[in-house]
Formats: sequence, structure tokens, C-alpha cells
Amino acid sequence: MNFIVAFFYPFDDDKFPWDSSYVSVIFLALVSCIVGLFSDFRERALHGLAISSVLWLLARKGPTFVLFVLGFFNIMNKSAFIVSYIGNRGFQYDDSNLFSVLNDRSLLYHFAMLLCCLIGFFYRSYFYSVLLMDLVHREETLYNVIRSVTRNGRSIVLTAMFASILIYLFAIIIFLFFQEQCIKEIEDLSNDGEPIVENHCETLILAIITTFNEGLRNGGGIGDYLIPLSQHHDQFFYRVIFDLLFYFGIIIIVLNLIFGVIIDTFADLRNEKQKKDDIIRNTCFICGLERRQFDNRSISFETHIQYEHNMWHYLYFIVHLRTKDATEYTGPESFVSSLTKQNILSWFPRHQAMSLQLSPQNEDKMDNQAMYQKYCEMASAFSQLMEQLEDFKIRVDEQRRRQQRLSIIKSSIRHTPRQYREPSSSERRATVQSEPSHSRLNSRSSSNQNGFRRQQSLISQDSIDSGDQ
Ligand SMILES: [Zn+2]
Repeated sequence: MNFIVAFFYPFDDDKFPWDSSYVSVIFLALVSCIVGLFSDFRERALHGLAISSVLWLLARKGPTFVLFVLGFFNIMNKSAFIVSYIGNRGFQYDDSNLFSVLNDRSLLYHFAMLLCCLIGFFYRSYFYSVLLMDLVHREETLYNVIRSVTRNGRSIVLTAMFASILIYLFAIIIFLFFQEQCIKEIEDLSNDGEPIVENHCETLILAIITTFNEGLRNGGGIGDYLIPLSQHHDQFFYRVIFDLLFYFGIIIIVLNLIFGVIIDTFADLRNEKQKKDDIIRNTCFICGLERRQFDNRSISFETHIQYEHNMWHYLYFIVHLRTKDATEYTGPESFVSSLTKQNILSWFPRHQAMSLQLSPQNEDKMDNQAMYQKYCEMASAFSQLMEQLEDFKIRVDEQRRRQQRLSIIKSSIRHTPRQYREPSSSERRATVQSEPSHSRLNSRSSSNQNGFRRQQSLISQDSIDSGDQ
């Protein structure tokens, strides 16, 4: 609509219909779009069909007729939208007070848009141009441009007030000292462009207006507007100081302060939007778990938000509960229904997901089993070691006892008589010489021999016992 207004206003329907060649081209486009409806690019074909049919109507009937048709559709569309909007939000309004509807800003906004449609339809077509501002309402980035001014509006207004005070002071100085330097030669449009000379600082209010208007708009401040002075003029140095003060004080510092506030606010808003987008992209809407918590897991974040915690499934479930008869609820349904009626969201999984809970538990289980097995192995090994140690202890005791006995035997052997050993030749001789003592010695050796035999049998008995053990 706005393209038609911009290109053809004021409308001259005598130029229509267009040449048949244009019309035939548009008609071809129309037919190809209709054919495209049956292809894969149905959506694009639909857009093309809408545009080409408008163009075709324009070429055949002229802009007045097309704007009438489009404006009528626009009004119907907007009215239907407002009716459905109130219908949707109806439960939020206070029934007893009709004016509570007016507290809804966006509803007022849509009413204003409808009003623009009506004025454009019944009065002048260029009022449709206001409808383009709807783009700002729809697109958040553009909306942030407006919010960057309105959000820190207080500091911007205060800075602007400070600038106004300074400019007011400068205007008084101009009015008092540099009044004759405001003279300008202007073409008088009411008198065939005859040049006239005017002083724009005749009164203080005129001086203030001129300082605001010319001082802020000129890149070098008010000095650009005032007549340049000769270096021999009395006020030359005062003018230099005055112009510089105005330039640094107003143009450089105060104006940039205002710009800085606006730019900073815009940057903040952009950061907030980025953060919000980041949260929307990387956090599950239902459980609030972040994307990185699904790293190295059996399930990916996309699968999680698609199948496990699909927010639309939760919405469908709530709608299902509202539409279902309460007497037919299952156990979980009646539980969730009772919570949703009280606006309690505790039935939502917070920071937990079944897929994340199951996998670590399994891992823990596996770990526990492996550890238990290891423990069992270690315990059996330990008991074996203890048995061996016990055995070793017994053997060591036995060994010690045997050694004790052996030492006893040895000591007893050490005390046995020499004759009992194999007699040497000299001994034999001695035996022959001392014949009478032989019988006495013989009886002693026999008694010793008996003792030795007894000890020998004990040792053999011990060795048998130890062998058994
Ligand atoms: Zn989740």
C-alpha cells in the first residue's frame, strides 16, 4: 500500500490501464505463481501470487481501486485481530470495569493502528505510512533503538536541561554584547525573493531561539553563525574566547554526553538481548539444564529439548488437562491438574532429566560391582595369606623345638665316654694293657648306649610328626 502511495500519489487514474505489454508480463507472472502453488515452493509462490495479483489489478484498474481493496482488507484484518486479541486476553481484564481494558498498552496500540487504517481509508492515503511503524513493534532490535532513548530518559532529559541552561546563559551574553553580529541577509520569499537584512537577536527570546537553533545545528557552534570579526575589532578576543567556550562546553562535552548515554544504553540493551538469546538457545525451557551438561552423555541437548523436555508437549498436556473431564483423570493427571490450578510448577523437573539421572546411576552400579569383585578377590587373597602365615608360624615353632631337642641331644652326646667312639690303635693298646678295668667300663658304656637309643627313637618320632604336619 505504501509503495503504491509513494509512487503514484497524487493519484491520476487517467494514466491507467497500462500498456498491454506490461499487463501481459504481469499476467504471465501471475500464471507462473499459480503453477508454482503446486510445486515444492508453495510459500514463495503464495507471496508471488499476492504481489503479482496486486500489480495486475493496479495495471488494469489504477491505484485508487487497488488502495480501496487493500485498505478494506486491512481494516477487516485489524478488526479481526483486535477482537481475537481481546478474546484471548479477556480473562486478564476486570469484568466490572470496562476501562481496565484501556490499561493494556498493546491493545491501545492496536486500536491506534486501526484508527490509522480508517483515516487512510476514508481521508488521505498517506496516513497508511504510520502503519510502517509496526515494524518497530515487531522487531526487537528496532524496538531497542527506541528503548535506548526511553530507558535512561531521566539522565538524558537532565543532561539536556543542563545544556539548555548553558545555552540560555550564552544567549544572554550574545544579547548583551554581540547583538549587532547577528545580522543576516535573507531572501524574502513573500516579496519575490528580495534580499532583506534582519537582526535575529533584537529581543532576548529571539536571541535564545537563534542560539538554540543555529548554535546546536552548526558544527562549530554559534561562532559559525555570528559575523566573523576583523582582528582589529575591539571585541575580537572576546569573540574568540566566547566561540571556543560555546564549542567546547556545548558541542563537544554536553552533546556528546547525551549521545554517550544513548549509545551506552543501546549497547546494554544489545548485550541483554544477546544474553537472552543465549539462554533461549542453550538452556532447556523446562528443566533449566544447560547445553554443556549434556556433553559426553548418551543424549544430546537437541534430542533432550526435542523429545524429553519439549515445551510444547508440556503446553499440550496442560491444555489436555483443561479440556478433559475431571472424572476421567488418571492418577498423575489429577495430581498435575490440582497443581496447575494453584499455579504451582513443582511438577516440572527442575535441574534434572531422566536420561542424565539414569546414566550416572548405571555407571555407579558398574563401579560398585567392580569394586565389590576386587574386594572379594582381595579378601580371599588375604585369608590365604593368613593361612600360609599360620602354617609358617607352626613350622617355625616346630623348627625351634627341633633345634632345642637337637641341641639337647648334642650336649648329651658331648658327655658320652671316649671308649664308645671307634677306638684308635693307641687306645686299643691301652685297653689291652688295662684289662682289669674293662668289665667296669663295659657296663657303663652299655647304660650310655641305652640312653642314646632312647633319644634316637624320640628324634625319629619327632621327624615323623613334623613330616605329618
Ligand atoms: Zn530439560
